[in-house]
Amino acid sequence: MRTRKIQPTRTLLLSSAMALLSVLAVNATYGFDPNYDSDGDQSAIRFVSEDRSVCIRSDFPGGRVNRCVQIGPNEFDLLIRPEQQPINDSAWYAFQVRATRPCELTIRLRYDGGTHRYAPLISRDGETWFPADRLVTAVHPFGKQAVLQVRVDSEPLWVSARQLLTNHTVDEWIEKIAKRDYVDDDVIGFSVENRPIRRLTISESRSPATIFLMARQHPTEITGMIGLMRFVEAISAQTDRASKFRKQFTTIVVPTANPDGVARGHWRCNASGVDLNRDWKHFTQPETQALRRELLSYRTAGRRSLYLFLDFHSTYEDVFYTAEDVDQAFPPNFTSAWLGALQRRFAWYNVNHDASHNSNRTTSKAWVRDTLDVAAVTYEFGDTTKPNEIAELANGSADEMMRLLVQRRTDHLQQQQQLVSTQPAPAQ
Ligand SMILES: [Zn+2]
Repeated sequence: MRTRKIQPTRTLLLSSAMALLSVLAVNATYGFDPNYDSDGDQSAIRFVSEDRSVCIRSDFPGGRVNRCVQIGPNEFDLLIRPEQQPINDSAWYAFQVRATRPCELTIRLRYDGGTHRYAPLISRDGETWFPADRLVTAVHPFGKQAVLQVRVDSEPLWVSARQLLTNHTVDEWIEKIAKRDYVDDDVIGFSVENRPIRRLTISESRSPATIFLMARQHPTEITGMIGLMRFVEAISAQTDRASKFRKQFTTIVVPTANPDGVARGHWRCNASGVDLNRDWKHFTQPETQALRRELLSYRTAGRRSLYLFLDFHSTYEDVFYTAEDVDQAFPPNFTSAWLGALQRRFAWYNVNHDASHNSNRTTSKAWVRDTLDVAAVTYEFGDTTKPNEIAELANGSADEMMRLLVQRRTDHLQQQQQLVSTQPAPAQ
């Protein structure tokens, strides 16, 4: 009798405890990132399934899942929501999943404020990534949901919209480049959350003739970031072309314009919820203010010092965006000559130039073109352009740019000398 009496009580206690645990598990969806927004942009979660066999988390730099709900034993819904709405449709997600025993999970991505744009990549270490389009078994009409079938085991599996390129990874890359004698590394300012906005200065001569490169105003635009890295590596390489260029030009690089957005796994904006590439009129943010200050410092009275501005991004295809009249900016006709040379170099490739895109928007290229009267180009790589193709294109375009700019500067200096020598001597 006694045994019979105790047994149901134990069962009841056990099931009550399990129920409580499951409620806790479902509700304990918000994580531990100390950099949480006060406005509710909670994108770092750590979720454990009812039976504690599956863990899904996004509480790491660049991670993003806004909520996880368990639907069935092996079925989970992940809510993916942007930091701000409305927003450009760049629906970023990144999470890590593991299970105590091998199993297959159904993971449904539910998008709020955007649609399924990026087929997933997977990684076992967060560093080496593989395309995993095959995980997607269904995309619902209008892209509001995508269903993934994911095999998991006790080793963490990273699933991300694009490969993760964290601030830490970029810092390591900066430090590697900065080891060269002719490269310096410092900061131009700080973000809303006080992260450094880093700058590389590449020069063998401290020449006042300068080119300016930047990337990552938009955190999800990984292919653009890879493009900038390969482009900068070509300029800092130990080749004759690059050495000659470095003796005549100083290259300024701001690899990450929006380090807060990168850290938080934002779709588009900085920590204040502002799209930085729509802030180049009123300059309301510390990031754009630092960039403006930096760019204005090359406007030396009466002398040309800035020769080219390139802002690296990603979109649906490879394309160079410029203002319509970019060839009238200094150095004259440079953009046409550069893109023409690129087309001749890569016969297999279609150099796509759009000279009217966003011409009235408050973008970096529009401001640089109008305020500094300099050739300004938004250099976009496609979301799905392969890393080896980006490397070949970025290396080739850097090479053609260096060749043409050295030529242009020589011409420009000769013209200036001729002007001086043909001016009449001042009256005595
Ligand atoms: Zn962009």
